[in-house]
Amino acid sequence: MAGIRIGIALHRYIGNGVFIRRGKHIQQFRDLTSTIHYRSPKLDVVVIGCGASGIAALSKLQEAGLNVLGLEALERTGGRIHSLDFAGGLVDIGAAWCNGEVNNVVYELAAPYDLLAGPGAKDEEWFIFSNGTVMPTGDAQTIRNKITEAIDKADKNNTKSISEFILDVVKKDPIADVVHIQSFIEWYERDNNVGGQDDPRKAKSLKGIEEKEICSGEFWLHWKGKGFQTLFDVLLKKPPYSSNPITPTILLNKPVSSINWQLEDEDGKPYVEVVCADGAKYETKAVISTVTVGVLKESHGQFFNPALPSDKVNCINNLGYGVFDKIHIEFASTWWPKSPARFRILWKEEDKMKFSADEKWVTEIYELRTLEHPNLPKVLVAFIYGKGAEQAEYKSLDEVKAGIQKLVDLIFRLNFEVSEIKSIERTKWRKNKFARGTHSYRCVATEESGASATALSTPLLHKGVPVVCFAGEATSPKHYNSVHGAVETGFREADRLIQTITRS
Ligand SMILES: Cc1cc2nc3c(=O)[nH]c(=O)nc-3n(C[C@H](O)[C@H](O)[C@H](O)COP(=O)(O)OP(=O)(O)OC[C@H]3O[C@@H](n4cnc5c(N)ncnc54)[C@H](O)[C@@H]3O)c2cc1C
Repeated sequence: MAGIRIGIALHRYIGNGVFIRRGKHIQQFRDLTSTIHYRSPKLDVVVIGCGASGIAALSKLQEAGLNVLGLEALERTGGRIHSLDFAGGLVDIGAAWCNGEVNNVVYELAAPYDLLAGPGAKDEEWFIFSNGTVMPTGDAQTIRNKITEAIDKADKNNTKSISEFILDVVKKDPIADVVHIQSFIEWYERDNNVGGQDDPRKAKSLKGIEEKEICSGEFWLHWKGKGFQTLFDVLLKKPPYSSNPITPTILLNKPVSSINWQLEDEDGKPYVEVVCADGAKYETKAVISTVTVGVLKESHGQFFNPALPSDKVNCINNLGYGVFDKIHIEFASTWWPKSPARFRILWKEEDKMKFSADEKWVTEIYELRTLEHPNLPKVLVAFIYGKGAEQAEYKSLDEVKAGIQKLVDLIFRLNFEVSEIKSIERTKWRKNKFARGTHSYRCVATEESGASATALSTPLLHKGVPVVCFAGEATSPKHYNSVHGAVETGFREADRLIQTITRS
């Protein structure tokens, strides 16, 4: 129904004498006057934030015939999915892989069009010390298996952190005798993003492991060089995925600054007023907020009027929210023997000393790996997490390049003829004020406070109807920190409003 309406009219009236031109598919507008005020009819739903959950919600709502509007703070849609041109191909500086197949909505959306592929061959895995020596893969696997098995068997009905537990395991088990076990554990903790570097209450909880459902099937499904952004074309049914695209109106560069959510019209019917930083105001029957927990931690106090109830604030304050950055590195030529390859870096204290305080972030890089895109054979991507990532975000591109050069010289020159670094692309997810990090997780504070995704996802009601709904990866009880979790939550909240709005 929505598709037909859009197909007919070239322009759409949005109030105050303003028409906006319909694009072919998604409609994105940069500079709309700040005085737009929706009056009659009110919008059915305003979706705040147009990442995976926001676009999923918009697609479903619009398809159901509701009058929707997406407001996106940035100059682009996609949020934590961002596919970029780099080194002659497309790299994903946010989410890159569809993790798993079973019970994975992203897989279910993409599979009919054959959009995903696994790595093809098994990764050549290197555990390499920071002085260039290589740990025999068998030894590395033995230690890793011991830690993983111990975690699998652990009693998780407590508020303990994973780090604390690993420390206990190492104390009690003979693996404690393995030389450089500390380097291995440090790598393991970074690889599993266990957190808590500066505050033990922010360390990933053991209990959270049970809560999260890992979708079975191939975990490293890539988009065959087309980028994760392809998901949005599928969600919006763009050709070639359908001949009847869904075209919700999306306004870019429209940061929302407040949501007034306990209003009533002359007939006593509840409505919500959404106010943007540029002064634009939109009246709507309901809102779906998809802003990240990181953004909510920083601004929920100003964002919601009246303020959020205390159980919601408890969730925002006590769910973990971390940062993980990627540094894509283009080399003049491929110097590693085989792709796909993963270099896991085991830092020794004496090598860390070779880096100044300003370069400390380099010593927190824990992996370099190849990418699957056939046009990107000369690219490695480095992963950095937590405090190291935060420090790196404050370095200039030249400083990052110099740091990577030093790392490559120290670790890889012993065994490989490393080629020149041609270019670098780095992320700043913490500094991005509309992300403030990369992923939610369950930490010690979550378990101690009783915070949960389910409580975060409970809508705010006015006169018994949902007026502010919450979507986004952090509101997914089992699939948080994933695109499939985000999409599920967008669909979930769209369904909720389709039921209540079409009923009313
Ligand atoms: C580096 C990185 C790697 C990852 N790797 C993977 C992976 O391989 N596989 C996987 O499944 N997942 C991965 N993830 C996680 C995945 O990207 C996210 O879980 C998912 O994209 C989150 O979608 P979302 O809709 O919940 O949030 P977002 O995508 O963050 O969307 C929120 C949107 O709200 C906007 N916004 C914020 N504040 C406002 C405001 N005031 N007004 C208006 N708009 C606002 C933001 O700009 C953003 O567009 C990764 C994430 C990162 C960052």
